[in-house]
Amino acid sequence: METKETEIKETIVKKIDNKDIDKLYQDEDIRLAADIIKSGGLVAFPTETVYGLGADAFMEEAAKKIYAAKGRPSDNPLIVHISEIREVDDIAECIPDIFYSLAKKYWPGPMTVVLKKRNIVPDATSGGLDTVAVRLPDNNIARAIIKESGVPIAAPSANTSGRPSPTKAIHVLEDMNGKIDMIIDGGTVGIGVESTIIDLTSDIPTLLRPGAVTLEMLENTCKRVDVDPAIEHLLTGNEVPKAPGMKYKHYAPKADMKLVRGNESDVLKYLKGQIQNSDRLIAVLTVDEHKDMFDTVSSEKLNIKVLSLGSSKNPESIAYNLFDILRKCDELGVEYIFSESFDERGIGKAIMNRLKKAAGFEIIDV
Ligand code: AMP
Ligand code: MG
Repeated sequence: METKETEIKETIVKKIDNKDIDKLYQDEDIRLAADIIKSGGLVAFPTETVYGLGADAFMEEAAKKIYAAKGRPSDNPLIVHISEIREVDDIAECIPDIFYSLAKKYWPGPMTVVLKKRNIVPDATSGGLDTVAVRLPDNNIARAIIKESGVPIAAPSANTSGRPSPTKAIHVLEDMNGKIDMIIDGGTVGIGVESTIIDLTSDIPTLLRPGAVTLEMLENTCKRVDVDPAIEHLLTGNEVPKAPGMKYKHYAPKADMKLVRGNESDVLKYLKGQIQNSDRLIAVLTVDEHKDMFDTVSSEKLNIKVLSLGSSKNPESIAYNLFDILRKCDELGVEYIFSESFDERGIGKAIMNRLKKAAGFEIIDV
């Protein structure tokens, strides 16, 4: 599959409050967004996870434009977004019972399911696979646009391929200005990391990407859940990830990044040692509770930037800030990033997966 050249165009940016869905239907900017989608254009909009870059999922040419705007490899399929559970039947077939149990609990919400696709879904949307990823987002703006468009919307994260996912409209503008037709600015997203992906096409459901619907939550509903190895480590030799996107370098800041793992005092000691002796522009990604400990060094050495990802008592805050902080590191032009590591339970699995990927799985155990 070839991807098309992107033409330069003017990107319309419209701010909308995330209000009652009935009011959103009457909003002229939502109508404009839907008209653009219907005519094969690209619109970025907020979801509860990150901003998505949407196009008509059934229109081959429109889906191809997404790959061109993002610079995304054409074998990396798109997630199809719907506005009601029953629309899943238009897109997928042979749907297993476990889907309905999961959808009842976690839809609308940050969970994407992989199902067997119907022929109507073009190869450009499914990356040539015979399966399709589907999600019902929990965001009124997103659902109003899908409803008004009258078609399912293929929407990957609205970032340039390889860059951190956008959690604010300004991030989308940074990456997509002049490449897409419209950006709906609905404020900052609620969660900050992309949806959980679970593959339901094999006998045992398999977690392909961790997110805010946690492994523990999935295990509550499914008897057993396998975890795709691509989540945990860099794949070697002939291992192939089930989510094609997991094989690409991702979320990557421009700096060389390393994760530091171990008990709290050892990690802090290691980090201080690293920054004390360096003249390079270094960012240390830490937590609110540890930030003060770097005060002396960072006030004496202007080349050291200490950034808090959030509170260690509130891992959701870390998920929420993660991509924004990685983008900040790019803005500051830092050369090296050292980040603390986090407990992998609950949403910690998603946080650590994104951090490991951003660091190219380079972990220093101290
Ligand atoms: P994004 O929307 O940018 O967060 O990326 C979507 C992710 O979903 C990528 O990692 C894709 O590889 C994955 N994905 C989409 N469709 C499928 C599918 N049919 N099977 C497995 N993974 C998929
Ligand atoms: Mg993405």
